[in-house]
Amino acid sequence: MLFNEVAQYYQKLEEVSSRLSMIDILSEMFSKTSKEEIKALIYLTQGALSPPFEGKEIGMAEKLVISSLAISTGAEQKTIEKLFSTTGDLGQTGEKLVITSKLKSFNSKKLTVLDLFESLTKISNTSGVGSKDIKIRLFAGLISNSSPIETRYIIRFSLGTLRLGLGDATILEALSKSITGNRDSKELLENGYNICGDLGKVAYILFDKGIKGIENMEVELFNPIRPELAERAKSFEEIIERMGVACSVEGKYDGLRAQLHMDKKKNKIEIFSRNLERMTLMFPDILKNAFSEINAESIIVEGEAIAYNENTEEFRPFQETIQRKRKHEVEEKSAEVPLHLFLFDIMYLNGKQLMSLPYEERRSKLEAVLVKRKMILPSAKIIAKTSKEIELFFNKEITEGLEGVVAKDLNSKYVAGARKFSWIKMKRSYRSELSDTVDLVIIGYFSGKGSRTEFGLGGLLAAVYNDKKDLFESITKIGTGFTEKQMLSLSELLGKIKTKKKPARVESTVEPDFWVDPKYVVEVRADEITRSPMHMCGKETYSQDEIGYALRFPRIVSDGVRDKKAEDATTTKEILEMFLLQKKKPLSD
Ligand code: AMP
Repeated sequence: MLFNEVAQYYQKLEEVSSRLSMIDILSEMFSKTSKEEIKALIYLTQGALSPPFEGKEIGMAEKLVISSLAISTGAEQKTIEKLFSTTGDLGQTGEKLVITSKLKSFNSKKLTVLDLFESLTKISNTSGVGSKDIKIRLFAGLISNSSPIETRYIIRFSLGTLRLGLGDATILEALSKSITGNRDSKELLENGYNICGDLGKVAYILFDKGIKGIENMEVELFNPIRPELAERAKSFEEIIERMGVACSVEGKYDGLRAQLHMDKKKNKIEIFSRNLERMTLMFPDILKNAFSEINAESIIVEGEAIAYNENTEEFRPFQETIQRKRKHEVEEKSAEVPLHLFLFDIMYLNGKQLMSLPYEERRSKLEAVLVKRKMILPSAKIIAKTSKEIELFFNKEITEGLEGVVAKDLNSKYVAGARKFSWIKMKRSYRSELSDTVDLVIIGYFSGKGSRTEFGLGGLLAAVYNDKKDLFESITKIGTGFTEKQMLSLSELLGKIKTKKKPARVESTVEPDFWVDPKYVVEVRADEITRSPMHMCGKETYSQDEIGYALRFPRIVSDGVRDKKAEDATTTKEILEMFLLQKKKPLSD
């Protein structure tokens, strides 16, 4: 198929606004396409050179395109820039310049879809020293061989501004119509797309083997599966109502969704994002551990990668997880804040697809392959029968730094690419703000792990003072805010007063590596006070069923210990008052 014809279709697509008309135009274009061309045409029409997970980019900036136009049309660079400033669209500018160009093309061969795809891929593959000039020359050659309307779309494509306004669903419906004459096979095609994340591949199978080929499509390693999405509920009661007698409730980690594909024989691992982009290189820490921590020959699993403080076993805010988005930060951050991967699903294991198994069976297979649980762990989970149980778990997870819970239907299969009520998310709806710092008593400490081993201190367990009962009630672990100097001096100070048993006046079910006599006070800032069953602050009888108070994202701010007695620390009563005075800010979604 000639690209000139495709360009005419692109123009028609731009002229219509109804989705049905778009489908008609597209399906007519597809019906003229051969099996050999369809993959390339699908990617081009999506404005890409590959499916998203291959991330092939053409890498042409406006400047390069302008230089290429100067060569191919003989126009002055300044003239081109001027014309561009009036049209605002370099595609249109190029089209006009080609019409008026006096330079004749040496090559009068007409451009086919495959020629174009090949040329653009060649430009995309050009890298290294001097690649700019090579790109300019290759692109100029392409334009000299193109008609005005082809030029318009080739330039827009190269700058990432093709924007034909086509969604995946529109392309799938058009494909269905082009092969079967109607849109009815859309759902089937969508199923195929959901398990491979590659519209080009789906189209090729359809053209090659027909609808039967699509029906027989299977999950393949290193082809990302489109992720299942969660619905929302208004209350814990609604979750139970929708889920039936019992459901699984998992912690909702506020990190980056990661789908990990691993093939041990090939020594290969890839990690894909929620949008099916490859982000393997962002996770050197997970790559290092996946082969030893996951006991499988080949596997596809899914979870959330999140910054985690190993010393206090606390999650860190989302901002810390994504700090490694930029290349130069990856190595540095992976040493400083190693990510943990909390897996919540398994879709494929040792050559077998598992997506159609019920949740419970998938979950037990997932837990069985996670043999070490150091960096790669299963998500926290309970089986709940009442809304009260969900609420308790929700509060506990929030205090630990999570953003809520996701309830899951015990019998549901993995629904790729869809939002169904088999997963229901419940996030907290507001964030509070604590305006003041608090003074806390150190009641224990954790020995350092990872980069903190040498300091002998990884974090603290801290309490408030209950002056009515004359007891110290645990309220939080503290793992951040320390300088190296502080860690050394605290470890020395606390080493002198550590005890084997929990001191008499201390109430805590959280067990530190070492208890210490409640003696030293530190100043701490936290994001907010939350309700939590985990800590003892504010509980009447200190029983498991009661909900106490805890701090979320605490960090030490005093320069060492304060000159206060333990009994002068912030009291339980003050925490309760502060909790009521907290300012509530709605969370944006
Ligand atoms: P949202 O992004 O608010 O629509 O919530 C859904 C997202 O929560 C998913 O895409 C996952 O990235 C994330 N998530 C975190 N923890 C879990 C979990 N245990 N199960 C499922 N999704 C989770």
